[in-house]
Amino acid sequence: MQPYRGRFAPSPTGPLHMGSLVAAMASYLDARAHQGIWIVRMEDLDFDRNVLGADQAILASLTRCGMHSDEEVVWQSKRTHLYESALEKLDPHVFPCACSRKEIADSRVRAGLEDSQIYPGNCRHGIGDGKLARSFRLRVPDGETAVVPFIDRLLGPQQQNLSSEVGDFVLKRADGFWAYQLAVVVDDGAQEITDIVRGEDLLDSTARQLYLQSLLKLPTPRYLHVPVVVNEVGEKLSKQTGALAFDRGDNDLLNEALIPAATFLGLQLPSSIKNLDQFWQEATITWARTYLTK
Ligand code: GLU
Repeated sequence: MQPYRGRFAPSPTGPLHMGSLVAAMASYLDARAHQGIWIVRMEDLDFDRNVLGADQAILASLTRCGMHSDEEVVWQSKRTHLYESALEKLDPHVFPCACSRKEIADSRVRAGLEDSQIYPGNCRHGIGDGKLARSFRLRVPDGETAVVPFIDRLLGPQQQNLSSEVGDFVLKRADGFWAYQLAVVVDDGAQEITDIVRGEDLLDSTARQLYLQSLLKLPTPRYLHVPVVVNEVGEKLSKQTGALAFDRGDNDLLNEALIPAATFLGLQLPSSIKNLDQFWQEATITWARTYLTK
């Protein structure tokens, strides 16, 4: 079997909160339980959402928690040449789209798809004279080949129909930024990631990523999606929903953050844990017992 390589890929839009700690911890424990490599990758391609200094704050919090990247941390903003060459490789499957958000929303209404995020196919067959390309989209297959099945290590067999549930999706955005779906696939491939452990909010992106991997002839990693932390009203913790940093510089990270995050992941740890070393040792054993036997 190929040596295990996992990753944690935060977007530096703010400091880590309990939700992102859970995702970091799950990927870290899975790598440790497999005696594998764990890499941190900064997904900083959305320059409108990046917060100055958030990348360093995230790295400092990971270090304070005892999580260290086994290889040099990479920043996606320094790797755009890789996304450019992937877009060239995908050329036969890519088309320009001239639509604004409003035009897409209006077409959705006309197609009776207003409650969805599906691309209604407006520019699939050309953008029309005099119109300018705004974004670049990947044409998804029609018919039975549109169904992408995969196995999640925790959730079992999954599938998504890319044509009826997603539509042709964006690889390069109208604002000129590289889309998450393309960049994540290129980097997981380039960094030879064998195992992706992340929050369940990204389950819905997995079929798109598998399809891109197949077109780019990249190997398919294993996937494990863990539950996401929500607030009192059921919203995923995020900067937008006002999630607070778990690391305030002088608080007790073991008892206030790490043990609660492990408990959220269903890990029942001995009550005798007194320091970070003990925590990671016990949490790794418990993770292996809970998640590796599935
Ligand atoms: N950068 C993404 C996020 O912060 C995670 C990407 C991934 O794990 O695939 O939500």
